[in-house]
Amino acid sequence: MDELQLRDNIANVGQRLRLSAAKSQYGNSDILLVAVSKTRPVSAVRAAHRFGLTHFGENYLQEAVDKVTALEDLPLIWHFIGPIQSNKTQGIATHFDWVHSIDREKIATRLHYQRPAEMRRLQVCLQVNISGESSKSGVTMTQLPELARSVLKLSRLQLRGLMAIPAPDMDPDQLRNEFAGLRVALGQLRTLAPSLDTLSMGMSADMESAIAEGATMVRVGTAIFGPRNR
Ligand SMILES: *Cc1c(COP(=O)(O)O)cnc(C)c1O
Repeated sequence: MDELQLRDNIANVGQRLRLSAAKSQYGNSDILLVAVSKTRPVSAVRAAHRFGLTHFGENYLQEAVDKVTALEDLPLIWHFIGPIQSNKTQGIATHFDWVHSIDREKIATRLHYQRPAEMRRLQVCLQVNISGESSKSGVTMTQLPELARSVLKLSRLQLRGLMAIPAPDMDPDQLRNEFAGLRVALGQLRTLAPSLDTLSMGMSADMESAIAEGATMVRVGTAIFGPRNR
């Protein structure tokens, strides 16, 4: 994609974030934009960084490790947002700052043991299956407190909050309800851990609904980099 287009897209997404934040009763004035760079080349990440972005999200470990390594000269913050298999935890623990997609104790424990001592604690969110679909990853609302208690005991991880990906093709009211459900769930978990501060919800098509319901982080790919081929 050409760089002028990229710059316009980034400005446009920034505008959408500010407008929705101003309208939201849960208004976070500084919503963190995570640019989802999966399938995009290193050059696109470099250009996005030149236009002011520092947080990038990736789903596929090998692709991500190549990119993180190639971009070590820049002060970027990397977020792992994809499904996690056990054999991927080592690479994630050593290359990422954040993980949004923890949905099992086993994965959390492996990340804890594999997080190098000299790195900052891994910042983590628990992925919640808010739409209740069996096909999707994410812990159920019922299992959530137990998983949170386990993760809070892992000293190399810092539990920050919750993440969700709603089912596709929901109407705007349903979407708002699901995002509201995640906000309520975070509020309840604060009785266990008052410092939880992160609601990672909202993507290119639904960031307004997510922000209306209190998103503190949005994960945006297409609206920044254009359509993906994969
Ligand atoms: C791909 C992806 C995104 C970005 O989706 P867009 O619709 O391109 O903005 C956000 N979150 C997760 C978990 C993703 O896998």
